[in-house]
Amino acid sequence: MNKKLSLPVQIGIALAAGVAVGLICYFAGVKDFTTAYLKPIGDIFVNLLKFIVVPVVLLSMIDGIISMNDMKKVGSAGIKTVAYFLCTTAIACVIGLVFANIFKGVGLFPDLSKQLGSAEYTPPEYAGLMATIVAIFPSNMWQSFFNANMLQVIVISLFLGGSILAAGKKAQLVRDFVGSAYSVIEQLMGFIISLAPIGVFTYMAWVVANQGPDILGSLALVILCAYLAYIVHAVLVYSASAKAFAGMSPLAFFKGAMAAMVFAFSTTSSAATLPVSTECAEKMGAEKDIAAFVLPLGSTINMDGTAIYQCVATVFIASCAGINLTFGQMIMVVATATLASIGTAGVSGAGMVMLAMVLEAINIPVAYIGLIVAVDRLFDMGRTCLNVTGDIACSLCVTKWESKKAAARK
Ligand code: ASP
Repeated sequence: MNKKLSLPVQIGIALAAGVAVGLICYFAGVKDFTTAYLKPIGDIFVNLLKFIVVPVVLLSMIDGIISMNDMKKVGSAGIKTVAYFLCTTAIACVIGLVFANIFKGVGLFPDLSKQLGSAEYTPPEYAGLMATIVAIFPSNMWQSFFNANMLQVIVISLFLGGSILAAGKKAQLVRDFVGSAYSVIEQLMGFIISLAPIGVFTYMAWVVANQGPDILGSLALVILCAYLAYIVHAVLVYSASAKAFAGMSPLAFFKGAMAAMVFAFSTTSSAATLPVSTECAEKMGAEKDIAAFVLPLGSTINMDGTAIYQCVATVFIASCAGINLTFGQMIMVVATATLASIGTAGVSGAGMVMLAMVLEAINIPVAYIGLIVAVDRLFDMGRTCLNVTGDIACSLCVTKWESKKAAARK
């Protein structure tokens, strides 16, 4: 009997082992051992996450745009879908930031900058709105990749994706190339995510050995914060929009979506949940054509749970690094987390990879992701569940909007 343990189980074991080893090292007074030998291994994992973020964003966004190929044909349904996705994601970011700031404000997020060091940080001066907008547009594509300037990478993806669509048949080779290259990157991402247990074990041991048992309480609090925001968003935005636009009671909505929500919670992959969410949405009254368009697109670009997680994690990590985010930086977080969640693939752990982009955009040391790597799975379960619920709510609303329009035309 040599059945391989599933990744969640491996991560769970790694987490427990890391905490145990960390506590032993803490009480035995040998925390330097973890800093000298375990943390560097975790650093390798974080470096790999950082290394993959540019190709993932570039290819997944271009691939997403190409898959909207029949945007014109789908016409108004496409625009409504994207509008629903963007509005709800921006609201999600605000809810995430509000909860995170409340938690930080009442002192529930720690400041670990003294213990962890490396937080020499001077907040960049806010250059003003116009200068910030100008800076989003790259003057040299390679430099954007080189500096991992994610906003610029997204702009590049939008332009290239749009141009590929505009070039029509002549761009077939490039389309095939993007599709094929994206598959390669997905494989690589899968491989890096499969190393998560090693990253989890080493970082957890290092963090616990250096912080003592206190950090465990802080992590529980940041997870609680994210889940509160997930729940508020599901109730306030999804069930309310299903009620307002599709006339469905919140109870009927959550009951209908439950199967997909549970599946997403355990698999932590929107993409893997697609067949289940399609079945749920159709049973709840979404039109077949619309569900077939909205749900796959949603599983690729609509990630409100991920956006909330990225906002909460950013405020938490900034707090640990001893950084107070300015109002301008918060706006930047809303913008980048909205875009980052769009660029997040619907697979397990992808949101954490994209978190690096949000942190980089506001100059927070990406290495601090190490603080929450260990518990990412716990965040991921809730965020994927929320992501899938949003796709289902959208398919119901768009069905209603389109049927009203069709009725008006008659
Ligand atoms: N696991 C999430 C999903 O598939 C993406 C993420 O990691 O945030 O929806």
